[in-house]
Amino acid sequence: MDEQDVKNAVAAVAGARATVKVDGARIGVVVDATGLDAKARDALEAAVTMAASAPGREVRVVVTAERPRRRTIAVASGKGGVGKSTVSANLAIALSHIGRRVGLVDADIYGPSQPRLLGVEGTRPEAKDKVLLPVQTPFGVPLLSMGQLVAPGKAIAWRGPMTAGALGQLMDAEWGVADTLVVDLPPGTGDVQLTMIQKHRPAGAVIVCTPQDLALIDATRAIDLFEQAGVPIIGVIENMAGYACPHCGEVSDPFGCGGAEAAAKARGVPFLGRVPLDIAIRRASDAGDPPAADPADRTFRPIAEQVVRWLEGGAETPGGVER
Ligand code: ADP
Repeated sequence: MDEQDVKNAVAAVAGARATVKVDGARIGVVVDATGLDAKARDALEAAVTMAASAPGREVRVVVTAERPRRRTIAVASGKGGVGKSTVSANLAIALSHIGRRVGLVDADIYGPSQPRLLGVEGTRPEAKDKVLLPVQTPFGVPLLSMGQLVAPGKAIAWRGPMTAGALGQLMDAEWGVADTLVVDLPPGTGDVQLTMIQKHRPAGAVIVCTPQDLALIDATRAIDLFEQAGVPIIGVIENMAGYACPHCGEVSDPFGCGGAEAAAKARGVPFLGRVPLDIAIRRASDAGDPPAADPADRTFRPIAEQVVRWLEGGAETPGGVER
């Protein structure tokens, strides 16, 4: 056997990713699969094994990969129904449009709605070696949802340890090249939030609220939870801010205007922007067609740009917190 022939055959399928060692009839190949997703990695491993194999040879292929530096953004709200899931889905897509490699975790045990919002309702993730493989969505943002771990239509009635176990499965899944995980948390300040903070340490939290005072009081509680645990607040997003008339497009403010921005300012946390109460957003969300997927979107993109600046250590960074 010609050693160079083996090396050439392997290089033809793996290029510089493979290092070949030949010891008699034993061939060892180390393949660097950094940056490849699970499917591409398996395909590369199979191709290398085939290229190196011949009768009488013993081939061992070891696949390695550098773990990408991945950071988690927790999306939280003080109470339900403020549009936290809608904002999470659209933020994830808008972030991916500006170059982040984003995965979306739907940890909302009370109403896991991301499969519907991202047009993949009814899908189930597969697992490889007990590690979940996120479901691909039409928007380039892979997804795992608490809703995918239970039978369709069944309420999730888990106690603390089960919730923690399920969250762990979603967070420690095969996220491949994702550098950013957006996590849609349940509303309030319960078990999932605590596990998230303690075990999966988010880089920062985004708080979604509506303009009403009551929601702001609730939002303040959510801010407190993260701040007390030393998780920086990336900023506050005011959802359902102003009503966009579907007929004339005029925006009015049935709940007043500027409350969330003022509350954020008073708390010393950044204000990331407003999303209007717009029937088009509700319709598109229900239809699994998130508005941020539209290249013309000017609502979620500026918010995502601020989050990216924050992640990259830009101007919006709240004072000196390590991340
Ligand atoms: P949460 O996750 O906070 O419980 P959802 O994201 O599920 O809230 O939103 C609750 C409802 O409000 C959904 O029907 C959603 O389509 C709708 N909704 C959310 N944000 C907006 C918005 N900006 N304009 C119109 N409808 C919205």
